[in-house]
Amino acid sequence: MRAHRRPRQRIAAALIVLVLGGVACAPTTPTPVPTPSPTPAPPDLAPPTIASRDPLPNAEIDPRATVRVIFSEPVSGVDGSSFQVVDPSGGVVDATVTLAPGGLTATLVPSGGLTIGSTFDVRLTDAVHDLAGNPLAAESWQLSTGGEVRFAAGTYDGFKFGASESDLTGFTRAMVAEPTTATASAYLVLGAHGYLVIDSGTLAGYWVPGTRSGDAIGDAAAPIPALPTCAYLDLPAGRTAYGDWSSSVLDTVFDIPRGYAPKDLTDTKKAGLNAGYFVRAVALPDLTEMVAAAKADGARLAVESAYRSYVGQVLTFNGWVSQVGYKAALLTSARPGHSEHQLGTAIDFLSVGGASPWTYPDWATTREGAWLAANAWRFGWVMSYPNGKTALTCYRYEPWHYRYVGRQQAAAIHAAGLTPREWLWEQGFGVR
Ligand SMILES: [Zn+2]
Repeated sequence: MRAHRRPRQRIAAALIVLVLGGVACAPTTPTPVPTPSPTPAPPDLAPPTIASRDPLPNAEIDPRATVRVIFSEPVSGVDGSSFQVVDPSGGVVDATVTLAPGGLTATLVPSGGLTIGSTFDVRLTDAVHDLAGNPLAAESWQLSTGGEVRFAAGTYDGFKFGASESDLTGFTRAMVAEPTTATASAYLVLGAHGYLVIDSGTLAGYWVPGTRSGDAIGDAAAPIPALPTCAYLDLPAGRTAYGDWSSSVLDTVFDIPRGYAPKDLTDTKKAGLNAGYFVRAVALPDLTEMVAAAKADGARLAVESAYRSYVGQVLTFNGWVSQVGYKAALLTSARPGHSEHQLGTAIDFLSVGGASPWTYPDWATTREGAWLAANAWRFGWVMSYPNGKTALTCYRYEPWHYRYVGRQQAAAIHAAGLTPREWLWEQGFGVR
């Protein structure tokens, strides 16, 4: 209510205005401004809206980029179930969502990266609400990944690539002198490492994010990328020449060519073992000494299996598949091309007169298995798949499977306390 003025005062004020009416710039007494009494704020009935999106709808998004949303007011309820990326087939791409302190900005990070050349739906549901509980109207918009990938200047690790996958020439490092754009045909994720297949442009191959360096450093100084996770791929090993027998890294990812068949295969009977199995001549002298030393200690070694050709490995692997199923076979047997037996420098041992070593709970507890575990490295032989190291070796514990790498290298692997695969990779042998 306005302040009440008495009528006499009002008449006096009117008289003053009348008397002074014709005079310019007449001084007037200021009218007091009434102070408004506080009114209660209207209840927050307005739902939150999205004030901005980054990238914008229908924009192109980098396969590894994040999606950011700014809300019109602070919200809560932004989590994995209310903020999703949906791939073209309707599958939800795993993503983490974080809400910045203050509740105005949400960031979504898809795990692993988005497929090149695809359109994705980004969806927010009404689980997102403002602080008064008003839900966000369900929102959805589309983003596409392009076929192009930009490289900043720096050093990259990856595979050289040609016109087709068969042209992959191995793990390599490349230096990009200036920002470069390449066209990608597909994208593939290996565990924590994103590998990008690129089939045109100045760089081509599998690109490993996270190893880029802005420094113009030469190959020799470039860091060796992390040991790849045990994905099931068929990528050429870094070293596949016959002279590289001690340094070829073969696992579930890397393989040697189908036609890889060493010419110097020699019968294991020449090493004092049972006949009918073959190893490369380069391994024979140390194998002979090892078998004799074991025998002198009362450990009588025999061969269960040695060199296996690509076709031989097809039969071996398929045999395991029929016995234990494909998934279990992958952990106990190499797919063709991936076996160290094809190198001609690997032997599965057994005890003379004993059953196949894998029929024992732990063959390393037999006299022969224990002797090899303790002494094989002195003769240049290393256990490829030690106990408890499956995540690093890609295979189950195989106390019978030894690979010849030469005495110097075997001693180094023994001293390092690493699995052969880790050690070989650390030397850069997996990198061409
Ligand atoms: Zn084996």
